[in-house]
Amino acid sequence: MTSQRTRDRLITRLQERGIKSLEVLSVIREMPRHLFVDEALASRAYEDTALPIGHSQTISQPYIVAKMTEILLADSQRANVLEVGTGSGYQTAVLSKLVERVFSVERIAPLQNQARERFYQLKLNNIKLKHSDGSWGWEWYAPYDGIIVTCAPEQVPLELLKQLAPGGRMVIPVGSNKGQSLRVIDRVGDTFEETELDPVSFVPLLSGQI
Ligand code: SAH
Repeated sequence: MTSQRTRDRLITRLQERGIKSLEVLSVIREMPRHLFVDEALASRAYEDTALPIGHSQTISQPYIVAKMTEILLADSQRANVLEVGTGSGYQTAVLSKLVERVFSVERIAPLQNQARERFYQLKLNNIKLKHSDGSWGWEWYAPYDGIIVTCAPEQVPLELLKQLAPGGRMVIPVGSNKGQSLRVIDRVGDTFEETELDPVSFVPLLSGQI
């Protein structure tokens, strides 16, 4: 169920859905997604679907991870990337293979601890984690060439815009339970250019930490 053939089928599916970056496809092919979910769900880990990870949260669908990563990294090298919403750590792990350093913030401590354990097992050494409300970003390491948000705020948090480097790009789902869309925000000097992409369905960005 977690064999290379099952993984290859996922890659074919991502290509059929329009993912073109060979780099991104190759990292997803190699990444053991079954280690990022509960053992009971491991047999479904290479389906193109979101799965529960406890605490009412989900590991993102592989297509969405591929799409957001592809958009984030298109047109430019990105040395340091901030992620809001570590969750299982799957998106974080994919990014860690493609950029120099990933900084990831999560508000639910047990999820963060599990993710940390997985990064250790997989020897992913370029990831730094912080337990906090990611609406405030992570100022210490700012500015970031890339910011990726894996939970949906109703509006783009101002602090995240401030922590985006000139020339940097943010990929973020925005909206409420009535509807969300994926947005790409490019910082050009001190102005922000926003593009609205497809409708998406993410868990909400919540304030505070637990
Ligand atoms: N990329 C993750 C997605 C997990 S779901 C994965 O593929 O597993 C989104 C995550 O965002 C959840 O773990 C949730 O706890 C977290 N989250 C929600 N609001 C947040 C906030 N304000 N700050 C940090 N993390 C937040």
